[in-house]
Amino acid sequence: MIFSILQTNIIHDNVIRELINMLRKDLVMSYIQCKICKRELDVKNFYKKQRSTCKNCYNKNRQEKYKKSICRYCKEEFRPGIKGRYRYCKDECRLKDKIAVDDKTGCWNWQGSISLRGYGKIVWGSNTGALAHRVYYQVFKGNLKDNKVIIHSCDNTRCVNPEHLRIGTRKENTEDAQLKGRLKLRSRLTREHVINIRKLYHEGTSPEILAKMYKRSQGTIMDIVYRVSWKEI
Ligand SMILES: [Zn+2]
Ligand SMILES: [Zn+2]
Ligand SMILES: [Zn+2]
Repeated sequence: MIFSILQTNIIHDNVIRELINMLRKDLVMSYIQCKICKRELDVKNFYKKQRSTCKNCYNKNRQEKYKKSICRYCKEEFRPGIKGRYRYCKDECRLKDKIAVDDKTGCWNWQGSISLRGYGKIVWGSNTGALAHRVYYQVFKGNLKDNKVIIHSCDNTRCVNPEHLRIGTRKENTEDAQLKGRLKLRSRLTREHVINIRKLYHEGTSPEILAKMYKRSQGTIMDIVYRVSWKEI
């Protein structure tokens, strides 16, 4: 009696094992039809996330797709990937797409983020906090040395119109600012800044960088982030 139960159990186990093996083989060796070339191919010929087109067709498609691109600004065709350009054919196009022209003054108002001192900020190459007006000057007029100061003739710090920018000395710039009452000892933080600080922090910007950006101590920045200060926002 006991013997017969044991035997059936053994058979039972073997049958199950056999079944599992069959299933496993079936899974590994399953064939999928590629929707482009219509061939029935082993699953190995497909990317894990791309189970409808085979690797071959998928890669061909991708190459085709990235051969040409249309510039978002000038709408001209260009070959993407050169110098890391994918959306715009050239620097000028990228910069011109980020401004709003003021018809009255002719100012090119920067549409990206603004620093505490009121200047536009742009990610330019490896510099994530480049001053926009300096970049515009460099790209459209060229030859801007690091020690040179850019002066806005229109006194609109947000403006990046190269025609409103000229090179001056640091002394000239301070005098110019004082004359026009632009220079304040230390600008106040606004709601916008606080929201931005929290956003940047949660996106992974270090307190050190934030402190530099906003000219505050790291303690002040962390107080803002953890709502020790500015609790109402
Ligand atoms: Zn295919
Ligand atoms: Zn373009
Ligand atoms: Zn201007």
